[in-house]
Amino acid sequence: MKKYFFLFALVFSCTSGSLENQEKLCIEMLNIGQGLAFLIKGKNCNFLYDTGTPSSGIDTMLQNRGIKTLCTVFLSHRHNDHAGGMPVLEEMEKNGKIRINRVLYGDEMSRGDTIADFLPWTVRVLFEEGAMRISDSQNSFLFMADLEAQHEKSILELEPLLSATALQVGHHGSRTSSSWEFLAQIQPKIALISAGRNNSYGHPHPETLAKLRIVLPDTTQIFRTDLEGSVVVEWVYKAGIWKR
Ligand SMILES: [Zn+2]
Repeated sequence: MKKYFFLFALVFSCTSGSLENQEKLCIEMLNIGQGLAFLIKGKNCNFLYDTGTPSSGIDTMLQNRGIKTLCTVFLSHRHNDHAGGMPVLEEMEKNGKIRINRVLYGDEMSRGDTIADFLPWTVRVLFEEGAMRISDSQNSFLFMADLEAQHEKSILELEPLLSATALQVGHHGSRTSSSWEFLAQIQPKIALISAGRNNSYGHPHPETLAKLRIVLPDTTQIFRTDLEGSVVVEWVYKAGIWKR
């Protein structure tokens, strides 16, 4: 089965165009040091979920990837390691290096709000402070920004059946996020952690990593920017999600 998935991943490259009629998302956890930034590329939209810090190098990363337009910049919350790169993007825009169609702030959005950037995928705001879930009828990707265990509890009270194929592990893998109850319900198959190499916070915490190793069916599916740099995940509509 795994081999089959691997071949599939090779066939669908994020940059070389997809096979005809195959809808695809390319989700990249950017290696921006201690912070968070995901670039989500769909057929008609480049979507940035958080920007990292002002010195994260987000401008160079976008330029290196040939990104000239962002349909949406979604800022989960206003901490420097998530939204601090926004002035850098504004500067790029001023210099004509990028076009930003809109900026959404997690704290200005409500639970249940939907974002139509990636139709036929559903993009839904799960919780204030930027939790967001992308889904098709088969798989889903859950972004948890810096949400902590008490927020996870509130989310599960609202949505007791919530699950996700791929999980952006909350708060850079801090031990104050990713409670057992939450992970046991979500049942992720792929875990993505954004953390700076040798960061002073000790992210990701060994306890969180130990939990993920128990919960994930395949422990090789834990990916970290501090160890391997930027991580790209491909998602073929209704077919599956794979790390490239
Ligand atoms: Zn953070």
